[in-house]
Amino acid sequence: MDRTKILLDENDMPKQWYNILADLPVEPPLNPATREPMNPKDLEPIFAKELIKQEISSERYITIPEEVREIYKLWRPSPLYRAHRLEKVLGTPARIYYKNEGVSPAGSHKPNTAIAQAYYNMKEGTERISTETGAGQWGSALSLSCNYFDIECKVYMVRSSYYQKPYRKSLINLWGANVVPSPSPDTQFGRKILEMYPDTTGSLGIAISEAIEDAALNDNTKYALGSVLNHTCLHQTVVGLETQKQFEMTEDYPDIVIGCCGGGSNLAGVSLPYIRDNIAGKTNIRIIAVEPSACPSLTGGKFEYDFGDMAQMTPLLKMYTLGSGFIPPAIHAGGLRYHGASPIVSKLVADKLMEARAYHQVEVFDAAVTFARSEGIAPAPESSHAIKAAIDEAIKCKQTGQEKTILFNLSGHGHFDMGSYDKYFSGDLSNE
Ligand SMILES: *Cc1c(COP(=O)(O)O)cnc(C)c1O
Repeated sequence: MDRTKILLDENDMPKQWYNILADLPVEPPLNPATREPMNPKDLEPIFAKELIKQEISSERYITIPEEVREIYKLWRPSPLYRAHRLEKVLGTPARIYYKNEGVSPAGSHKPNTAIAQAYYNMKEGTERISTETGAGQWGSALSLSCNYFDIECKVYMVRSSYYQKPYRKSLINLWGANVVPSPSPDTQFGRKILEMYPDTTGSLGIAISEAIEDAALNDNTKYALGSVLNHTCLHQTVVGLETQKQFEMTEDYPDIVIGCCGGGSNLAGVSLPYIRDNIAGKTNIRIIAVEPSACPSLTGGKFEYDFGDMAQMTPLLKMYTLGSGFIPPAIHAGGLRYHGASPIVSKLVADKLMEARAYHQVEVFDAAVTFARSEGIAPAPESSHAIKAAIDEAIKCKQTGQEKTILFNLSGHGHFDMGSYDKYFSGDLSNE
């Protein structure tokens, strides 16, 4: 009988991350004032030096520090599942596998980079880290990580989520960070916005601006970002590298690799090791990025230099973007509501090394329910975009009789998203 769970011994966890910049250089970030490539030194007040180094490194493999691997071992290697029950429900000859990143303490892939970022900051003497969070996934992952390295953590959480999704806020508190609704009275930018728009619901753009200001004005404080940047994609490659070892324990190997895309980090994490092999001419695996139709940067945006935030304070990044002023509708996959996409993922799509597609949220929740009722796991709405694409590919296999092997990344569980599921079942979910 084929196995259901493919488990790797913790000593077989990868010892290095894969840096795709060695095989696929991307265009550098630009200084917004001069439009010249950024001088890495200019980023030092904001980011830990080692992370800046990794951001532009062309070394193919970067060693995962032993202290980071020790913490990874709390949940890594994460299980690779063969979705036997989903295959049966779909009646497909395809073989579907998923990597379950929902088993981390924070419930998503985000601690893979949060732990590494907190570690390098600790090494460099950072006493405090500031960050923003939308629905709270990143804030909780960073709070967990700062706790392990005795770093104070300040999270600016978008005001509407702070009040509408109080349990992620509780989780951030549980691991010891200080979380405030953004805009907050704690920064100049926050005070200015509060004065102008006292009733604002806040936005990720405002929260980013507050967190960066906090790091820029406080000597003992650095800033951390949970996605988009090259070093976040680097740290997530532990996901894809593990799956390659896990597939060695089966008779199968993926023909198709799928991930959902907000900023692009979990997609990069699961797919970059396979893209490495495609670039080397060893394999010819299809890679599919899946985004919401309501925020379609890869399928509807332009590939150009743009700001990472709404206040236009960040360096300019070459990426697929809907414009830094784009405000996406309030869809339930909060983690996918970003106007841009990682420069690495953008370059892969532009060079046709990766496909991209978009789905509406109702069809995504249909797929989530099919998955929950077959495999048992309640998926995050973000991850359900990848599930939808995997189901569509499996149905295509049924129509054509092809026995393909499909791998998707289950980036997180949906235990904090039950309000969204309630809306879906009461028919209140709109198809923006
Ligand atoms: C944050 C998040 C995402 C989106 O971020 P990426 O950087 O695009 O991976 C996807 N899934 C889950 C569960 C998340 O928490």
